[in-house]
Amino acid sequence: MFLNEYFTTIFKSIKSLLTGMKLTGYYFTHPKEIVTEEYPDNRATLVMHDRFKGEVIMPHNENNEHRCTGCQSCELACPNGSIKIITKQEIQADGKKKKRIDTWVYHLDMCTMCNLCIISCPSAAIKMGQNFEHSVYDKKQLKKILNNNNSKLMEGVEE
Ligand code: SF4
Ligand code: SF4
Repeated sequence: MFLNEYFTTIFKSIKSLLTGMKLTGYYFTHPKEIVTEEYPDNRATLVMHDRFKGEVIMPHNENNEHRCTGCQSCELACPNGSIKIITKQEIQADGKKKKRIDTWVYHLDMCTMCNLCIISCPSAAIKMGQNFEHSVYDKKQLKKILNNNNSKLMEGVEE
């Protein structure tokens, strides 16, 4: 009885090993089908898939202008409070006051990359970036300000 169990276990182990080795052998003989990336050796040439979501970013143009009107739709859409939009009143050339963003706070440490903020933005001011190297020693460094210093609203963006 004991010997029977002993040999059955050995047989199952060998079968399991061969099953695994079969897959290894397949990729060994079909190197073009290998999808594993040798990160970080390939860091210089690494291209992420378009649909990869690494962080929320706010693009600025060459004049340091963004498309964020400070409407706060993204803040309301975020299911876990990862966004805080702080606004200010700016006096325009005609003397009228307009709401503008002061600080666009993004808590990357809380973000689940659900994309809801991007979808909710009426002026396409934010998008998903592809950076994934977010390791830090201090969690506070994952609190980011997305609007650049002294940046302003791009002309022609609907408010
Ligand atoms: S991707 Fe989702 S969790 Fe992250 S900031 Fe946007 S709405 Fe919030
Ligand atoms: S990023 Fe978009 S949704 Fe969020 S405050 Fe700016 S304009 Fe509004």
